[in-house]
Amino acid sequence: MLGVTVWRRLLGVCDRTVVERVEFDEETDAVVAHVRPRRAKKRQCGRCGVRAPGYDQGEGRRRWRTLDLGELRSFLEADAPRVNCPEHGPTVIAVPWARHGAGHTRAFDNTVAWLAVHTSKMAIVELLRIAWATVGAIVARVVDEARAAVDPFDGLRRIGIDEISYKRGHRYLTIVVDHDTGRLIWAAKGHDKNTLNRFFDLLGDQRCAAVRLVSCDAQEWISDVVRLRCTNATICLDAFHLVKWVTDALDEVRRETWNEARRAGMRTHARDLKHARYALWKNPEDLTERQEAKLAWVAKVNRRLHRAYLLKEQFRAIIAIKGRRALKMLTAWLAWTARSRIPTFVDLGRRIRKNLPGIQAALVHDLSNALIESTNTKIRLLTRIAYGFKEPEHLIALALLDRGGYCPPLPRRPAR
Ligand SMILES: [Zn+2]
Repeated sequence: MLGVTVWRRLLGVCDRTVVERVEFDEETDAVVAHVRPRRAKKRQCGRCGVRAPGYDQGEGRRRWRTLDLGELRSFLEADAPRVNCPEHGPTVIAVPWARHGAGHTRAFDNTVAWLAVHTSKMAIVELLRIAWATVGAIVARVVDEARAAVDPFDGLRRIGIDEISYKRGHRYLTIVVDHDTGRLIWAAKGHDKNTLNRFFDLLGDQRCAAVRLVSCDAQEWISDVVRLRCTNATICLDAFHLVKWVTDALDEVRRETWNEARRAGMRTHARDLKHARYALWKNPEDLTERQEAKLAWVAKVNRRLHRAYLLKEQFRAIIAIKGRRALKMLTAWLAWTARSRIPTFVDLGRRIRKNLPGIQAALVHDLSNALIESTNTKIRLLTRIAYGFKEPEHLIALALLDRGGYCPPLPRRPAR
């Protein structure tokens, strides 16, 4: 028979847990370890940890799923009495092996959270024999605990605000990133002034006043609230969104050109234009040989579309160069759009002029557009993975776990 220390380690519980006995349960085909917290007389409220007098036996004995032992599913079983907490009333006691309200142990929760960041949905569900919705709930409680332990909003100076669609039918999340740590620090359902005001309420007046720079898309619901709440902050428009305005304009011109060719009965020409999409859209350094040839063809047969392409590339160069030189180039670029005789770009030039202070700020303050772009891309991917979670809050928790630096280490591995 194994000693208690070995059992404790096998079961992944700390030395504040007493292992009374271990048995094999035929009915559930699982290992069941009977445990209790050490010094059970000093019972603590499961929610706040305050010592409190006993209340009742709760719902009797309970089981917590823990990591498999070899091929077998394993459970801890213990009494779950309630204390009468001065603040929370009758509450189940705190146990050292599990988070409050959880049906799984810490070791199990942390393994699920780690796997949710590092592997596929299918692998987690198959390997751990749990439902995907359960993964959502576990990730949420891991992240909640980590955020309660360390204030995620301390020392914010340069932040980015964005919105991301997470479901069809105009469901959006508002997200906030910290440009200095590169982390996602907050996300919530909705994309309006009320949602964003909730973030600044959490931040509080003093920390709002310390924010120096806010990057965002040119949307009034964001900039109006930022101006009101962060009175010392400069607003810069996100380079990522600006480049998207320009690539969208180029795509619009390509579609117009294609439609014109189609209407004129130039079927082959229209088809070739349709296939030029990626050649126009990609950065020149990433083009394949075929795409390069396509681009050369566009330059020869459609001067207007090629001009639109050059305008896009020049704008990308301005964003990449940044600083005073970029400001001068931007002035020249705006003059170019005005005389381009491409209505879409004339309009784009007007839109950019209208937002000039925010764009100039983006060029002067060297904020990387990679952070907003990669966060945006990653959350889009996570929304697909999180499909099947019951609450949008679980998607938010998964995003924070992955992009907010809350992923716990696997059991018995050092924290990174
Ligand atoms: Zn309490």
